Amino acid sequence: MTKSSTLGYPRIGEKREWKKALEQYWKGNLQEEEFLTEIEGLRLHYLKKQKDRGIDLIPIGDFSLYDHVLDTAFMFGLIPDRFKVQDKSDLDTYFDMARGNESAVACEMTKWFNTNYHYIVPELQNDAEPSLLNNRVLHYFEEAKQKLGITGKPVILGPITLLKLSKGYQEEHFTTLLNKLVPLYVQVLKELENAGAEWVQIDEPVLSTTLDDKDISIFKEVYQTFNDELTSVKILLQTYFESVDYYEEVVSLPVAGIGLDFVHDEGANLLSLQKHGFPKDKTLAAGVINGRNIWRSDLKSSLAALNTITAIADKERLIVQPSCSLLHVPVTVETEHELNTELKNALAFADQKLEETTTLTEGLNKGEEAIRQRIEENSNARGALLSSASRNRLEVQKEVKFWKGVEPSRDQHHSTRQKLQQEYFNLPLLPTTTIGSLPQTTEIRQARMRWRKGDWDDVKYEEFIEANIREWIERQEDIGLDVLIHGEFERNDMVEFFGEKLDGFAFTRYAWVQSYGSRCVKPPIIYGDVALNEPMTVKEINYAQSQTAKPVKGMLTGPVTILNWSFVREDISQYDVTKQIALALQKEIKALEENQIQMIQVDEPALREGLPLKPAKQQTYLDEAVYAFKLATSAVNNETQIHTHMCYSEFGAIMETIDQLDADVISIETARSHGELITAFEEHSYEKGIGLGVYDIHSPRIPKVEEMERNIERALQVLDSRQFWVNPDCGLKTRGVTETTEALTNMVKAADNVRQRINKEEAVKEK
Ligand code: GLN
Ligand code: ZN
Repeated sequence: MTKSSTLGYPRIGEKREWKKALEQYWKGNLQEEEFLTEIEGLRLHYLKKQKDRGIDLIPIGDFSLYDHVLDTAFMFGLIPDRFKVQDKSDLDTYFDMARGNESAVACEMTKWFNTNYHYIVPELQNDAEPSLLNNRVLHYFEEAKQKLGITGKPVILGPITLLKLSKGYQEEHFTTLLNKLVPLYVQVLKELENAGAEWVQIDEPVLSTTLDDKDISIFKEVYQTFNDELTSVKILLQTYFESVDYYEEVVSLPVAGIGLDFVHDEGANLLSLQKHGFPKDKTLAAGVINGRNIWRSDLKSSLAALNTITAIADKERLIVQPSCSLLHVPVTVETEHELNTELKNALAFADQKLEETTTLTEGLNKGEEAIRQRIEENSNARGALLSSASRNRLEVQKEVKFWKGVEPSRDQHHSTRQKLQQEYFNLPLLPTTTIGSLPQTTEIRQARMRWRKGDWDDVKYEEFIEANIREWIERQEDIGLDVLIHGEFERNDMVEFFGEKLDGFAFTRYAWVQSYGSRCVKPPIIYGDVALNEPMTVKEINYAQSQTAKPVKGMLTGPVTILNWSFVREDISQYDVTKQIALALQKEIKALEENQIQMIQVDEPALREGLPLKPAKQQTYLDEAVYAFKLATSAVNNETQIHTHMCYSEFGAIMETIDQLDADVISIETARSHGELITAFEEHSYEKGIGLGVYDIHSPRIPKVEEMERNIERALQVLDSRQFWVNPDCGLKTRGVTETTEALTNMVKAADNVRQRINKEEAVKEK
């Protein structure tokens, strides 16, 4: 019999109950015991939902109080010394690692493969001595058995992925550290075996990234050890997010089952399966439901794929499942009462994906006839959205097509533009500016809430926003900044704001997904053709500009970022969706320019994070990103200065891309990693305007003048003072008013000091 399974289920709950419980505990409003009881209720609820929907192999231990990588590090005692404080409960130590405390900075956090989920980076030194602190999966396994009668499938992050994602040790110590971890894994697995586990899922997502022969032989060794040490429990080695490059080697590893993603990577795993077959004695866990998107599957073609698979792999040993954990999708469509029916019917979140999984399993076990009606319903729902007016806006599609034959580019080379812009703006050396947003105080958030609820009418809300703009324009002038911003007070979120104004976007009520820890995001859904109806930002920018003689920068979110932070339709290529967004932004930029706004910033903080895992796909992605950015920004006059902003510093790899964007000025987030950055600029020459964040906005600390002066001077060792801009690292919306005012005052002073030093030296030279 073919079985159904899932790899993991969302932690956050239908209404983010999990998040709320965590935050109450952190605030001290819940005692540890109460908190744990509440959390247990949620954990069991999630298991029960999967059981009730007929999932055969239910994952256990995928649940987490923060993050599964942190869970794994913690269970193996990989706790940095700075968190080892007497009298702290394990629970609090665990949270300290994730969030930091008064005396210890949190562990780093970084993106989980190509998702928008962030994991806590384990730290271990060359001589780390891991030990098994507690077998958390065993505990959860027994809990599910006792309380729900579920013999679950424990899930654990594999040792090779764990180590590869960790930092703090040198490459040559990898094997030694691995050899210390493997016996601990064996112990965990043995305990699960003794407790009656039939299957254990070991996640090794690094198998879908680029590995080499040496890595593969490490896999062989480690999994051989598990095989030698265990008797009855079966290991399901799970890969996801992309296809595996070493297909033949992976499917021959000494494990009972292999989990493969049959959705992503244009069917590469399926091709490998057809080409190389699949070992007769192994179970294949086939990820045929997309675990990452929010759309109903095309059940008909999934079933066809399964039939192709069962022609090769034994149906009796087949498992049908989503392509990855459902952690990356919202919980349920059921609670969305405000979406239009056409769209709602075409959606499938976690709970709906459970049903798709069991439907397909049933189709294999009982024959297609048994699920015919569901297949039909499914295809009708998909078809209705596909043929809806929202997806068939010919004028939008025509425009995209037209531009495909054209290489968008600015009229003049940047060096010419630079001169023209300097004549136009007449800015001092080392111009000072900020990234766009200013403190979003409780007052501002409350005002927006009142307006959304209808307690405030448009006029009242707009007046309120204008008052804030006015106040801050004045404050920025007092501080002495050279290029001002309106402050983004009218925006809740840099993508949502634009999505709400553009056609083709929909917003849900509860479709949250975990981003990191208790932080959840609710990405908009791009379901139709994207188009601009009327200007989105002109009113506020115009108002700000009317209050000052200094230039005010227009502020937009770029096409790639809007795409990467949304759930995107899949009936057309995502690059075409990006182009539609770019064309809408092109019109917005035109409108700003017509209103004499001639400095316009187009933020692309998510450009880098969309980079595909497979190197073979990266260049296309980067080329398309450049294309979309230029499509949005190139149609302006030479005197109009295009700025862009990105939120990271590891851009060594994308330096060329950054240059190709041809933005007149870029600001990047570098206050935390100045050293690395300087090297990047030593290696690549960059000639356009550039602002390297001179202070870190992620902490309330007010940086000293001297400190920022040093940062500026350091950057000027590799960059020309005539191209350098002085700005903070990122937007200031999370900071307070007083600290922001003080920090910016210091920043302006620092720029001024360096400016004076340079002018003095130039004067001496002239003599
Ligand atoms: N302009 C945005 C802001 O200042 C940029 C935010 C970002 O880079 N994430 O908030
Ligand atoms: Zn930023």
